[in-house]
Formats: sequence, structure tokens, C-alpha cells
Amino acid sequence: MKTLQDFNFKNKKALIRVDFNVPFDEHFNVTDATRIEAAKPTIDKIIADGGSVILMSHLGRPKGKEDRFSLKHIVKTASEILGTEVQFASDCRGDEVQNAAKNLQPGEVLLLENLRFYKEEESGDVAFAKELASLGDIYVNDAFGTAHRAHASTTIIARFFPENKCFGILLAKEIESLNKVLKNSEKPVTAVLGGSKVSSKITVIENILDKIDHMIIGGGMTFTFVKALGGKIGNSICEDDKMELALEILKLAKQKGVQIHLPVDMVIADSFSNDAKTQIVDVDKIPDGWQGLDAGPKSLEAIRKVIMESKTILWNGPLGVFEMPKFANGTISLGNFIAESTANGAFSLVGGGDSVAAVKQFGLEPKMSYVSTGGGAMLEMLEGKSLPGIAAFAE
Ligand code: AMP
Repeated sequence: MKTLQDFNFKNKKALIRVDFNVPFDEHFNVTDATRIEAAKPTIDKIIADGGSVILMSHLGRPKGKEDRFSLKHIVKTASEILGTEVQFASDCRGDEVQNAAKNLQPGEVLLLENLRFYKEEESGDVAFAKELASLGDIYVNDAFGTAHRAHASTTIIARFFPENKCFGILLAKEIESLNKVLKNSEKPVTAVLGGSKVSSKITVIENILDKIDHMIIGGGMTFTFVKALGGKIGNSICEDDKMELALEILKLAKQKGVQIHLPVDMVIADSFSNDAKTQIVDVDKIPDGWQGLDAGPKSLEAIRKVIMESKTILWNGPLGVFEMPKFANGTISLGNFIAESTANGAFSLVGGGDSVAAVKQFGLEPKMSYVSTGGGAMLEMLEGKSLPGIAAFAE
């Protein structure tokens, strides 16, 4: 599989699939431009080579052509970030865009209108992919966030560039970082899995058990395990129908020599609220009427020890209800432990929507080795699935 460095883009038109699916305020100001900034290294390299750039992306989930989902709203921000005036094509197919692409000069950047204004994008329509493909000389995929979708612009299009296709810098970095955890990892490897439910993480757990030495379980998931082991969990969240599965995971981990670390104490609350009364108790002695909402101090001390000894760390999911300040301590502490271990030479990868949000909220992003940009895509890779947008490059 080729990367950007394998090509010289001089006088070539690079057709790049980016993920510019950014959030707006009510006046259509971009409120978080991370995804545009993330694509900049790829765009810069192509321009520096003397090439031109055609950017294609989706934005939201429009039903047909809806103005509020137009990519015209991001032109100003994109121009500022890229340091050049981004041209905008008010459609992604048809004569206007064909002409704009044909007339594009080296150094220029053209942004196409939202691909999802056509249902052919998500259905993976071959004719639509072929039309898009006709706009550029080299296809670059730099959209990790949609790599798990077999859409026209992320997957089908690759077949029209038998030789001239490559991953962008961002996508290559995502794959490299995941491989550092799943394939060429330095031991001991620790996975921290938190969040609300066992059911949403079960396939990840099953797939990574072969690749790790320690698994730290936290967050709401904890209580399904604790109850299955005979503990009292009060009103904490629990998936009763997953208790048997939890016991099976523990058995499997033992067989595979993976050490499981469950919290030993919890911050419990008398209601799901930041104003709740709280106390700290053993994880298996939670009184009725109370619920566990964050990891307790003894749990954090044990987690710290494991994290400091680890050489590779994967973090997915918060340790508590970090959205409420009263129950954010566990997640913040964990972030700090991982930051400290990373400073000591460990490789840390944070992925999955809520842990990424937590790391950003608490200013820990620069202290992690890598923070993934693709929630769903990252989870599917951790589940051991082949992503269509990546597999298309092997064909
Ligand atoms: P997930 O999307 O599965 O990673 O879950 C993330 C959510 O889990 C966050 O919104 C947290 O507030 C929530 N969460 C973490 N710990 C707990 C807990 N002990 N009880 C209820 N929800 C929790």
C-alpha cells in the first residue's frame, strides 16, 4: 500500500477524500476545526510538490440538497487554516465542477459540495464514483473517520486508480498507531476499557485479549462484572443479560494469561446528578439507593501502578461520569497517569468518542502519543475487522 511520500505531485491534480464533517454554531461558524487542521499536512505536501488539490467530503446526514449541510459554510475557515483561498464548487458532479477541476492550477485548492447531497455516495454507486474519479490524477484517502464505510468516495472510487492511489498522512498515521498497539507492540501492553456498557465493547475485548497483558476495566461496565461475581451494586447500571458473558471474559483472560483489573472501590452517589450526596465504598458493597459513578482512590492507586509499568497503553472509554465535575476525578487521574507513563517512554493511543472528548476537555491531548480521529473506524479496527476504505487499497 502506497503512502503520500511515494508520489511526486508536480503538475498533478490530487483528488483527496477528507473528513471535514465539522460542528457549527447557529451562525455557521466552525466551532471545532480539528478535522480541517488534521488534513493540512497532506494538502501542504501536495502543494509543495507543485500539485493542485481537489477536496471532497461529507457533512452531516442531509436528506438531499439542504443548505445547512452545505460545505460552503467551511470555506472561510478552511482558507484560513490552509493559508490559501479555497475555491468552492457548488456541486460535486456536473459541468461546473468538471470545468473547475480542469482549470485548476498548481498550488490551487478546490472544495467540492457535500458528497452526501447524492444518495449515490452512501450506496457506493459505481457510476458516481467514476464521475468523481474523472476529476483527478491521483486519489488520496485521508479520511479515517469514514474508512469503515464502503461509500463511493471512500472505497469504490479506488478501483478507478489502479496505480495512482495512496493514503494521506493522517490515515497512514492512524493505521501505524493502531498497529503499534495490535501488531508490533512493546510489552507489557495494557488496555483500559471504560464507558457505559459491556455490550458495546465486547467484540473489542474478545479481539484484543490475545494482544495484551493487562486489561483495566472501569466505568459503568464494571458493575456487570461485579454483580456477576456476587457483589452488591445497589442502583448502579448493569446489563443483567451480559453477566454470563462477563464471567466468560474473566475465564478467557485467565486462560490467555491476561491480568484483569477491576475497580476495588467506588465513588457512589444517591442520585445521577452533580448535586448528589456521595461517599466512597468497596465496589461490591454498594447500598440500595446508591450508584457507582466514579473510580475510588484505592482503584486509582492500583491503576496507576499498572499504567506506570506499561510500555504500550490503549485507552477507550472514561472511568466515570466525567461530564459531571463531581465524578470526573477518575478519568482525569487516569489521563494524568497515562501522560506520565508516556513521558517515561510508553506509547499511548486514545480512541473512541468519549475518551477523546475527555482528553481534549482536560487538556491532555498533547501528552498522549496519539489521539485517534475516527471513533467508529477505530473501534472496528480494534474489533479485528477489515475496513473497506483501507482494504480497497490492497486490491
Ligand atoms: P461509551 O460511549 O460506552 O464509551 O460510554 C461513555 C459514557 O459512559 C460516558 O457518557 C460516561 O458518562 C458513561 N459512564 C462512565 N461511567 C459510568 C458509570 N459508572 N455509570 C454510568 N455511566 C457511566
